[in-house]
Amino acid sequence: MKSFICKTCGTQFEPSAAPPAGCPVCLDERQYVGWDGQAWTTHEQLAATHTVRMGDDAGLPAFAMSDNFAIPQRMALLATGAGNILWECLSLVTPAAVQRLRELGGVDRIVISHPHFYASMVEWSEALGGVPILLHGADRSWVRRGAPQIEQWHGELLTLGGGVTLIRTGGHFPGSTALHWATGPRRRGALFVGDSPQVTQDRRGVSFMYSYPNYTPMRASDVHAMRERLAMFDYDDVFGFSWGRNILGNGKTAIERSFDRFFGAIAA
Ligand SMILES: [Zn+2]
Ligand SMILES: [Zn+2]
Repeated sequence: MKSFICKTCGTQFEPSAAPPAGCPVCLDERQYVGWDGQAWTTHEQLAATHTVRMGDDAGLPAFAMSDNFAIPQRMALLATGAGNILWECLSLVTPAAVQRLRELGGVDRIVISHPHFYASMVEWSEALGGVPILLHGADRSWVRRGAPQIEQWHGELLTLGGGVTLIRTGGHFPGSTALHWATGPRRRGALFVGDSPQVTQDRRGVSFMYSYPNYTPMRASDVHAMRERLAMFDYDDVFGFSWGRNILGNGKTAIERSFDRFFGAIAA
C-alpha cells in the first residue's frame, strides 16, 4: 500500500494498492489535469527526485519544493505568541527540513489556507510528532488523506491567542482562510493569504479569483464579505502563497486598492 501523490496539484491520498482512478482536486473546475493526463508519484519516489529548499523569506523560515513541483507553494514557520505555526504544507517531507524545524523550536500545529495546499499534511504531522492540523470545516470533503489529528474549525473568525487570528476569507473555497498575525514577523503585523486573495505577480496588489489557472473571478458577494472581514484587521505586510510573492509595507492599503479595482472592473 502506498500513499499516492498527484503530480499536478501535489495532494497526497489515502494509502491504496493501485493509484486512485482520478484526482478530484484536479478534476475540479478550479484546477486542471496535466496536459499529458493524470500522473502519480509516491512520497518515496518524490524523495528520490526532489528536495526541500530551505531559507529565509522576508524574515520567515521558509520551505519549498525544488524544481517548482506541483503548485508551488511556500511553507513557513511562524513563531507566534500562539506557538509555532507551520503555515501551509508541501508534498515532500525530508529529514533535513524536519531537523531544521526542530532547531527552530519545533511545530505546535499546522494551519493550511485551503485544499490546494493540503499536500502531504498528514506525512508532515507524523514526522513532527503527530501535531494537530487545523483546517476550516467547510472544506472537509477535500481531505484526501484523513487522520485523527486533523481538527476542523467553523465560522468566520478563530482567535488562536498571541495576536493570531484565522479569518475565513472564502470565495475561492468556502473555507479559504487567511492568517492574521498582529505583531509579526516584522512588528507591524502581517496577513498571510493563500489563494483568497492571491498576491499578484507585480506584488502591488491582490486578486480575487474562484479559479486562478482557469481565470474565473470570484462572486462579487463573496468579495464583499471578504472585504468586510479583512477591514477589521491592521497589518503592514501581505505574505502570498509562494516564495518572495509578498507585499512588504503598506499591505492593507494595497488590498483596499485591489478591492476597489475589482469592483471597478466588474461594474456595469
Ligand atoms: Zn491533483
Ligand atoms: Zn487554490
